[in-house]
Amino acid sequence: MSASPDSSTRTSAAITGFERTFVDELTSLTVPWQGADTPAPRLLVVNETLAAELGLDVEELRTDDGVALLSGAAAPSDAVPVATAYSGHQFGGYTPLLGDGRALLLGELVDPNGRRVDLQLKGSGRTPFSRGGDGFAVVGPMLREYLVSEAMHALGIPTTRSLSVVATGRDIQRTGAEPGAVLARIAASHLRVGTFEYAVRNTDLTQQLADYAIDRHYPELAGSGGSEAVNRYVAFFEAVLERQAALVARWMLVGFVHGVMNTDNTTISGETIDYGPCAFLDAFDPSAVFSSIDHAGRYAFGNQPAVLKWNLARFAETLLRFMAPTPDEAIAAATDVLAGYEARYEYHFAGGMASKIGLADAPPEPDLIADLLTLMREHRADWTGTFRALADELRGDQLPVTSLIPRDQIGPWLERWRSTLARLGREPESVAATMDRVNPVYIPRNHQVDAALRAATDGDLEPFRRLLAAVTHPYERRTDWAHYAAPAPQAFSESFQTFCGT
Ligand code: AMP
Ligand code: MG
Repeated sequence: MSASPDSSTRTSAAITGFERTFVDELTSLTVPWQGADTPAPRLLVVNETLAAELGLDVEELRTDDGVALLSGAAAPSDAVPVATAYSGHQFGGYTPLLGDGRALLLGELVDPNGRRVDLQLKGSGRTPFSRGGDGFAVVGPMLREYLVSEAMHALGIPTTRSLSVVATGRDIQRTGAEPGAVLARIAASHLRVGTFEYAVRNTDLTQQLADYAIDRHYPELAGSGGSEAVNRYVAFFEAVLERQAALVARWMLVGFVHGVMNTDNTTISGETIDYGPCAFLDAFDPSAVFSSIDHAGRYAFGNQPAVLKWNLARFAETLLRFMAPTPDEAIAAATDVLAGYEARYEYHFAGGMASKIGLADAPPEPDLIADLLTLMREHRADWTGTFRALADELRGDQLPVTSLIPRDQIGPWLERWRSTLARLGREPESVAATMDRVNPVYIPRNHQVDAALRAATDGDLEPFRRLLAAVTHPYERRTDWAHYAAPAPQAFSESFQTFCGT
């Protein structure tokens, strides 16, 4: 691929100390590139907490030089940004070349605790991987990623983080003209299943890539060699499966619909990535689909665990030749690991559900959870609201539960639940307090997110800031945030759609 598109050499030292292990070790998966210029850059939001965690000087980020760096208009003074190559199965079909069509990896940073992360820009202009796309992004969707990723982090769910959003001052053509923006995000790395799918078909670097990923994300496996009882690439596959199974279980426990679980959006680190058409459930409905392009419901809420297994099988295929001396043995080893997937997912999901109903250390009989889910589905109960309502019930306030599921329907279940707690000698008040520590009050509700992003696109960031404050303190019930806990009006929920790649 050709080099940088532009002769401009503007640089910024607002962030220094970049490292480049990925570029150095896997050079042919990267193309040196630089961002497009920005007509009138303006910092819309910067994540002070995250900047501090990374040891960055937030005041420096607010300067013209800082904003130029965060928008891609200036390259770091001590690093060469790159676009990276990857492939992916999108909606089940293989696309041989995707890559960073509108993203730039500025480099790696090592935080004060020694943790290595990527700093990547999204929306910084065309790259050699842009295909028909314009390489840009717009304010609404970039603030959406910022808001939802930070909400996920606050919920304790592994995710890429958002450092900033800069409005570029450039109008971008979508359904109409929309204000352009660049997101700066932080990730444990941007290695995806799709990175391996690309490497195995186009390079002889797959083993090197796997070793790199093991060193960076699973250092505990780094010592195991091919001759030992467990082959290190089998162990690597199993470790990724474990982290991803735990991750998707966490999504299911908070009612998160990723919306576009293509293999290029499945990370090796086990972090959630790419908040395009994602959404949170209001009413519990396993068939819920919000993405405008997911006509067959492949990525419906309830399909996510099964889709992840499919994606993990695609990942295993890229590692087969390193897993055992013969293809048959390799297939047997991979199949064996994959066969354990359901049990690993169920372990994480059932454990999480037990915590949600106050039985963390004494998992109830499986029917108790299954029967609650059936009731919630039959009555289209609000996913997030139900678990807080159950805690209120234990404190003697019956109204919240009754407003979600008629008492004559949920009564017998409540009896069984209460008698399980009583059998364990649990004090209802203290169980309620434990439940409130794991069940959020505030999630980014679609109607609230929509309204906040519409206002932001029109220049008013206040609703976004207020919503961000609530969803990044998800367990802290506050009267002035009460409206953020309310489900969407039904008419909104029925017609709500999200859009990809915007
Ligand atoms: P995503 O659905 O965001 O995971 O993106 C899928 C692929 O489409 C990636 O290779 C992106 O880089 C690319 N892509 C999405 N939007 C654009 C755009 N506006 N311009 C260029 N490439 C894009
Ligand atoms: Mg993606």
